[in-house]
Amino acid sequence: MSTAPGTSTPSSASAARAEAGHGIVESGRFRARQVAEVLRPGDADEVVRIVRDTARRAASGAHSPLHPVSTGFNWGLGSGSPVADGATVLDLSRLDRVRAIDLRAGYAVVEPGVTQGELAGRLDGSERMLNLTGASQHTSVLGNILERGVGLHRGRAEDLAGLELVLADGTFTRCGWWPDERSATVQPHCRGPSLNHVFTQSAMAVATAAVVRLLPRPDEVRVLPLTFAESELPAAVDVLRTWTAQRLIPATTKIYNLVAARTYGVRARLRRPGSRDRWLVHICLTGDAGLVAAQSRLVAERAAGHGSPFVAAPPHTADEQVHRAYAGLPDPDDTLFRRKTGCCARCLDTARGLLMFLPVVPFLGSAVARAAELIATALEGRTAAPGVTMNVLDADTIDHVVTLGFPPRDARAVGDAHRTLDRLHRAFVAEGHQPYRPDIDHPLPRPHGVLRQRIGRVLDPDGVFARGRF
Ligand SMILES: Cc1cc2nc3c(=O)[nH]c(=O)nc-3n(C[C@H](O)[C@H](O)[C@H](O)COP(=O)(O)OP(=O)(O)OC[C@H]3O[C@@H](n4cnc5c(N)ncnc54)[C@H](O)[C@@H]3O)c2cc1C
Repeated sequence: MSTAPGTSTPSSASAARAEAGHGIVESGRFRARQVAEVLRPGDADEVVRIVRDTARRAASGAHSPLHPVSTGFNWGLGSGSPVADGATVLDLSRLDRVRAIDLRAGYAVVEPGVTQGELAGRLDGSERMLNLTGASQHTSVLGNILERGVGLHRGRAEDLAGLELVLADGTFTRCGWWPDERSATVQPHCRGPSLNHVFTQSAMAVATAAVVRLLPRPDEVRVLPLTFAESELPAAVDVLRTWTAQRLIPATTKIYNLVAARTYGVRARLRRPGSRDRWLVHICLTGDAGLVAAQSRLVAERAAGHGSPFVAAPPHTADEQVHRAYAGLPDPDDTLFRRKTGCCARCLDTARGLLMFLPVVPFLGSAVARAAELIATALEGRTAAPGVTMNVLDADTIDHVVTLGFPPRDARAVGDAHRTLDRLHRAFVAEGHQPYRPDIDHPLPRPHGVLRQRIGRVLDPDGVFARGRF
């Protein structure tokens, strides 16, 4: 493995890890893929040159396909690793400029290396905020958008307004909405065919920048913590669904099983010996202070009502750090992430064993209870009880983040965790619950459907880009 001549010192952890071994060391402990090279361009022009050069060699079939990553922190799904051996990792973390911020119109133009912590910091004190995710502050805004990740206020796909792209033949182009070309109002779908999402979950181009929509900063952010007994899971989910459908609460609620709720101090203070496991719910209310106060009162009344599965949880279970995350505020110490993982973003891939399984399930008590059964019965060997976080996406849909932790240097534990992951895939897919983001060992089957195949053939006929997970 080598680095491209002319590129400077590695700036991202993924690239450093790729150099240290001869495969990328990542937290999932998937089979280490051999990478041919790690290239670290410093600007979009250099990306164009690399892609053109690869395209020339691809025409004669003698090339190593490009696997672009932004910061490569896609933990649990393969981090910065490609699906197949022999790819060249195109590490874009040196493209790290915030090119523009327009507070009035509500957008920022960012390059792949811009982290969510940095952009949140640039917006601190302004009338706008970034839709942060629950991952590290060091993850890429653009990388997560291309992955169609889940932010605390909405799916990250909804934050995307426009993309700057280098296509497989080296063409430098844009799609979606850009401030200098079109109407003064941010309109991600513009007029005519809407193209942005041809390039999310895609691997059909390199993105060198994105226009990212910013949320108006709310006057008030209040996170209400509730708990319920594990045995009440179906009832609690059905009540939350009704509250969401009737707009008593927004579609941003998170539900944590006991393992995941430990991050918020549930185990330490709520669980008594002999008591049943309690799950934690975070309901986030934002906006006008009077409205938030009224909504909070209503939710508290309903939660305390006769027959309710909920009990109000103490304030420490939704502490200041949780409020700051929903408020889009920077967390330079990555406090919440460190609490969740027990280590920092730069050491997670080497220090921790972690796999993720991300199925989407109907927002129904019966479906969520069935998902909990499937998870419990999939556990193989010594695999520890997983953390489960559920994100409400809308009144009909709830995604599950199932996190399998294991000691990364214990071969048996690694094998058990991977067998558990395989079983989870089989069990959920058999019941129609597909993961919305797969890992490098479970890529989607080759593109099917005539339209998808045609688009692939037109955009990248010679396979300049490495096979992705999608
Ligand atoms: C404790 C914890 C909490 C987490 N919470 C969340 C959460 O709340 N929401 C969430 O969504 N995820 C979460 N994650 C998962 C994950 O860490 C994030 O999704 C992370 O943002 C992805 O890594 P990245 O930003 O470095 O993107 P990258 O790894 O750089 O990119 C992701 C993928 O996008 C493609 N890609 C990236 N950049 C480019 C480019 N410039 N051009 C073309 N293709 C590109 C590649 O396929 C790449 O594999 C969490 C993980 C942990 C450990």
